[in-house]
Amino acid sequence: MKILSVICPRCKKKFNYYSSEFRPFCSEKCRLIDLGQWLNGSYTVPVQKLTLEEAEALEKLINEKNENSDEDDSSN
Ligand SMILES: [Zn+2]
Repeated sequence: MKILSVICPRCKKKFNYYSSEFRPFCSEKCRLIDLGQWLNGSYTVPVQKLTLEEAEALEKLINEKNENSDEDDSSN
């Protein structure tokens, strides 16, 4: 199994990128919190109220952002 240690953009915890289903986040909780912020600009809104469509749209944005950061990492 491949190992790539990365820092969760939400909680700053170190984790194996390949072991997380929720990358670039360490956990579903961190991903949902981040998605909630994208939608609401706030920490206080319950992220569980995201609709599937909203979550998918935001996940696509995050994936695009993550692809860019991967390019940065490869030159390191
Ligand atoms: Zn995290």
